[in-house]
Amino acid sequence: MIVVGSGVAGLTTAVVLAESGRRVRVWAREPAERTTSAVAGGLWWPYRIEPEPLVGAWALASLAVYEELADRPDETGVRLVDGVHRGTRLDDLGTWAGRVPGLRAVADGLAARLPVIDMPVHLAWLLDRLAKAGGVVETREVTDLAAVPAPVVVNCTGLGARSLVPDPAVRPVRGQLVVVENPGITTWFTSVDHSSDASTYFIPQPGGLLLGGTAEEDDWSQEPNPATAAAIVARCAAVRPEIAQARVRDHRVGLRPARDAVRLERQPLPDGRLLVHNYGHGGAGITVAWGCARQAAGLALPAA
Ligand SMILES: Cc1cc2nc3c(=O)[nH]c(=O)nc-3n(C[C@H](O)[C@H](O)[C@H](O)COP(=O)(O)OP(=O)(O)OC[C@H]3O[C@@H](n4cnc5c(N)ncnc54)[C@H](O)[C@@H]3O)c2cc1C
Repeated sequence: MIVVGSGVAGLTTAVVLAESGRRVRVWAREPAERTTSAVAGGLWWPYRIEPEPLVGAWALASLAVYEELADRPDETGVRLVDGVHRGTRLDDLGTWAGRVPGLRAVADGLAARLPVIDMPVHLAWLLDRLAKAGGVVETREVTDLAAVPAPVVVNCTGLGARSLVPDPAVRPVRGQLVVVENPGITTWFTSVDHSSDASTYFIPQPGGLLLGGTAEEDDWSQEPNPATAAAIVARCAAVRPEIAQARVRDHRVGLRPARDAVRLERQPLPDGRLLVHNYGHGGAGITVAWGCARQAAGLALPAA
């Protein structure tokens, strides 16, 4: 079978399929390190993804996997890190929240110890795990899913699905980040105003402190905006003043593949072959990766 896409959705799905004994090839236009997945902050938390009841189950399944992977952080890129979601209340969340170990109300929001995933390292680890299971990755652009030569084709193209399927329901939600030298911050922090396209968060990763963020709907610009970057630093420094002086290392932009609902379903092709879709994970593709991958694999296997 062929999985199209080498972001976190494609690689995790390919790993699950290959480890269940299938011959898997991944075709992708961009290598893993140039995907939206490589840009992501990497905090496990459902954000800008629908539909909530399914997302909760996918996220919890993925949480259990990441908790195990956190035993080998240097290899997998996964660590468990303490932090606070300021302004978030348990009552605002779905029933899944009651099953997140240690998630508790504190004075200004919710505190928890959650997986923080260093995405470049994690994607490289997924590639290695896939290779060990016999999977092969090739740089190939697909222009017609029905022409991909395999009995089962799994579509994990994220925002690419908009033109490829085509599916106009998939839309970009632009996110900009600033990477600074970490001035000694060891916990993550978020404060999200859902009525605004600006939020405030920071996530400590081994390569620096990631500062965010934005959620700009239908904005296709992949260029970092200097004014946006300055505003991100200022918002984060209002929470932790030492951030104001931190040396900037990098600017990152990614386009979240947003959709009114994740598309995770089978579509039989006219010639009897099977197409499985797994895309549209918005702002939480890492958070739900393993739960979605297992479901996608379940949809792909009966006809394999
Ligand atoms: C700034 C920012 C911060 C984020 N922070 C988090 C976070 O903390 N936690 C979290 O869970 N999520 C976060 N996200 C969201 C997360 O990054 C996405 O949901 C996730 O990366 C989507 O993964 P994907 O594999 O579906 O898509 P992508 O990573 O975009 O991969 C798509 C793949 O499909 C390939 N492709 C597309 N079209 C074609 C084609 N026609 N032919 C061949 N290949 C094709 C691409 O080359 C690529 O390999 C963040 C996103 C941004 C932008």
